[in-house]
Amino acid sequence: MRLLLVEDDVELGRRLSERLRGADFAVDLAKTSDEAENWPDLDKMAAIILDLGLPDGDGVDLLRNWRANRVDCPILILTARGSWQDKVEGLNAGADDFVVKPVRFEELLARLNAQFRRHMGKRENVLEHAGLRLDPLTHVVELDGEQLTLSRQEFRLLHLFIRRAGQVLPQADILENLYELEAERELNTVEVLVGRLRRKIGKDRITTLRGMGYRFGQ
Ligand code: CA
Repeated sequence: MRLLLVEDDVELGRRLSERLRGADFAVDLAKTSDEAENWPDLDKMAAIILDLGLPDGDGVDLLRNWRANRVDCPILILTARGSWQDKVEGLNAGADDFVVKPVRFEELLARLNAQFRRHMGKRENVLEHAGLRLDPLTHVVELDGEQLTLSRQEFRLLHLFIRRAGQVLPQADILENLYELEAERELNTVEVLVGRLRRKIGKDRITTLRGMGYRFGQ
């Protein structure tokens, strides 16, 4: 899943991106309000983590603009401002959660996951599809009760497929969801990755639609 992290503190931004990548997110990092507001692919983000004190503006204004422009993914405020007034303002502006720095990474991750559950309308984290079972928290994938060993990118791809089962996924969408850096995006990587995943989960689960993309499930 892809995340946008808006954080002007270079060191914190770097550390947090690293931890989030370690938790299998693709992370985009924006350092100013202006940069973040017009970030490409906002509609592809599974969530946004937003700092409030930005060099060129207030994160709350950014949040209001996004919500007014129908950016509807979960948005977590992560800020050093911790008064009740700040919290009320942030939540009223459209934030889904308000986290005060410093915070343990584990807590931030748990709060993110709680938002995904709420957003997807599910109480369970585990995703299931015709004998396949994927746990986004533990990264355990099972096929008919047997545990599979997937690489990080195979896991990400399967996660994406299960969440969008039955839909046609263009290769470009897959690339954008899997790789945060444009430089890493090459269409034949998707083909190779799909091929590897097919060998592990069964080739009939993924249909290739020539010139259009892939469809997982029926
Ligand atoms: Ca800041």
